[in-house]
Formats: sequence, structure tokens, C-alpha cells
Amino acid sequence: MSLFVGGRAGKLAIIIPKSDSTRDPKGNQVGFKDRRNTVTCFVGGVPIGSGHPIVVQSMTNTDTADPKSTAEQVVALARAGSTLVRVTVNNDAAAAAVPELIQRVTDLGVTVPIIGDFHYNGHLLLAKYPACAAALAKYRINPGNVGSRHRDENFRTIVQVAIGHDKPVRIGVNWGSLDQDLLTSMMDANAKAAAPRDAKDVYMEAMIESALRSAALAEETGLGHDRIIISAKISQVQDLLDCYRRLAARCDYPLHLGLTEAGLGMKGIVATTAALSLVLEEGIGDTIRASLTPSPGGDRTEEVLVAQQVLQSLGLRSFTPQVTACPGCGRTTSTFFQKMAEDIQGYLRDQMPLWRERHPGVEEMKVAVMGCVVNGPGESKHANIGISLPGTAEDPKAPVYVDGALRVTLKGEEIVPEFLAILNDYVESRYPVSV
Ligand code: SF4
Repeated sequence: MSLFVGGRAGKLAIIIPKSDSTRDPKGNQVGFKDRRNTVTCFVGGVPIGSGHPIVVQSMTNTDTADPKSTAEQVVALARAGSTLVRVTVNNDAAAAAVPELIQRVTDLGVTVPIIGDFHYNGHLLLAKYPACAAALAKYRINPGNVGSRHRDENFRTIVQVAIGHDKPVRIGVNWGSLDQDLLTSMMDANAKAAAPRDAKDVYMEAMIESALRSAALAEETGLGHDRIIISAKISQVQDLLDCYRRLAARCDYPLHLGLTEAGLGMKGIVATTAALSLVLEEGIGDTIRASLTPSPGGDRTEEVLVAQQVLQSLGLRSFTPQVTACPGCGRTTSTFFQKMAEDIQGYLRDQMPLWRERHPGVEEMKVAVMGCVVNGPGESKHANIGISLPGTAEDPKAPVYVDGALRVTLKGEEIVPEFLAILNDYVESRYPVSV
């Protein structure tokens, strides 16, 4: 167990991690919770496993056969912070387009490992399009739909291509497409048992069996133990926790985590957050995805921001400075402070591409924007930098606290730009330019 000293200048705090605590190259604290021990699987140079930060990944929803629009979405997802991006490879046109897609992404100045998602015909496409097989960083295989009569043969074909191109695979079981032959045989065996188990319990075990038997077959075929990642996705929160607990106890492969078919809007975000948090809190999960359904014309990058926010809220990784804002109440006379909080959060996010490079550590900064004097000064003192706006009947002034001390009191119409100026100065001095 290691021990280090963290906290803001003038507010040092001794932090004793529960287990191995490390920092990533940018100084982010990682491994704060007890992570389940896994081997490390490299995906296009990105290490996945318990010795490394939990990785956010995402998936495009464009037609992969259209390499231009897919490349643009891959770039948007990567720039939003997705470390890995998955694209569906569902037919000949998509497989043929993959090399051009990846070249376009490179030409746009982005290097992000791109994963191919295969169902039904992966064994055919990967064999027929070697340039596609070579360009992808990983293949996702669903053991529930690689065929039934020639299931093992088809599965081996994909694994052999992976071995030939030195690629890892993700064995991704999904309860919506579980291997029906395996499920039927396990249900039959359960029915004949002296003390049959609950059908749901058998279903859960079938998911685990499907993943682990496929992993064993992949290794028998010659794929390295450290070239396999597993997932077993379910759309119900408590079932997901149950499933991953069982899976985690029975293997040391890195696990990809996600609540499948999480849904639309607030329901999708809340369900995803609940599910990921429960499992991550137990130290399970090495990569995550938020499988949100975007609204028509919605922004696909929302799933990346949600996944990042889950990790940051749990204290597992830091991606962007956080704004603490009160909900407001009858003490606030207008929406001014709500808008200010939103503007500041947006400003911080907009600055991050530049700040990430120039000011390492700034992603851990905390900013408070509060609506009145009741909790405003107190919350501001807990933040790196905070402002407390005047509430109803309060003097029209806004005290600004920096590292716990009152720095200045702002007044008038220019409170927002003046506060942002103080914020920028703070970032420059607290997180010096990296050279
Ligand atoms: S800080 Fe003030 S304005 Fe904000 S919720 Fe509390 S009492 Fe209301």
C-alpha cells in the first residue's frame, strides 16, 4: 500500500488508498478503489486491466459503409474523450470501407484505436477483407450469433484471424442474443436436477458459461490469455451487478462494463449511472460504455461525457474540472446564477482540449458557483475557487474565494467576465504551463 499527500495548495491532506494507488501519466489518481486483479490486454496500444486507468469507450451509429460520416463521428467521439471507438462491421460494404475510414480519421489528426463489432458473419468478413482485419485494433465477437451448427468452427476462424493479425478480441455476451443451444441444454439439465434452481439463476449462469467457454476455446485455438476481454451485458441494473460479480469471481480477464440498451434521455443516463456505479464500486470493470439512445439529431458524444462523469463522480478518474452549484431556491431572485453555473461549466469543458496539454492536473480543479450567502461562502471555501452570488435582499456583491480565502468581492454587471479572469489566472499559476 502506498501513501501520498494530495490536496490543494495550503490544504494538504493525507490520503491512504485502500489498495494499490497509482497515477496515470497525467497525474490522475487511479486505482483508488480495490480493483479486481486482471491481466493487461493491449488494444491498439491502450492498456486495459486493473493496473491501468479505467478506459471510456463508445460506439458510432453511422453507416460504416459511409467512411466519411463515420470518420467524422469517430473523431467527435475521440475528441470528447473516448479512448476507444467501436464501429459495426455488418456487411461487405462496411468491411471494405474500414481501411478508408481509419485513414480518414488519421488524416483528421486523430489516433484512436477502432474496434470492429461483428455479428453472424464476422468469420466470413474478416477472412474476405484482410485489410479490414489488419486495420482494426480489436474484434468484438458475440458468441450467441456466430452460428449454431458450425458455431465453434466460425468462432475459431475469427480467432485465427485475430492471431494472424496479432489482435485481441472481446467476447461480448448479451442477454438479448444469448447462445440458445447452451441455454436450452442448461435449462434441461436444471429441470432434471434434484433441486432445480430458479430459471433466472440458470439464465445468468448461461451467460457466464457462454463467455468463459468461448474464452477457453479462443485460448485452445492459440490466442493468448492476455488477448481477451470479456463482457456480459444485461439491461436490468441489479441483474448486471449479479452477473459481473459471478464473472469477476471466475476469471482474470479484463472486463468491459455497460448496461445494454439503457434507453433514452434521463432514464438512460440514470440507469447507466446506477448500474456502472454499483459494479465499479466493487472494483469490477476495466473499460466502460454508456449505451444511451440519442434523441433524433442528438449528439452521440453524450455517451462519452456520461461515462466520464460516472468515473469522475466516483473519484476513479478526473477528466474535467467540476462545478459545484446549489440547486437554487426562493432566496435567489433570478436565474442569473443558474446561467452563470452553466456558462462556467461550459467554459471549463471548452478549455479542456488546450488546458489538458498545457496545465496537467487542472482536471482535478473544483469550482463552486453558489446562489446565496447561506451555503455560498462555505462551499466556496471547499473548492479551489468559488463565487457566492447575492440572494434576495442581500447586498449586491459576490465574494470570490481562492484556495479557501476571500480574494475579492465583485459587484456590477461584469461579474461573470471578471470571475473568469480570476479563474484563468488561477489555472495559469496553480497548474503551470507544461513544457
Ligand atoms: S445556497 Fe442559498 S440559494 Fe442556494 S440552495 Fe442554498 S439557500 Fe438556496
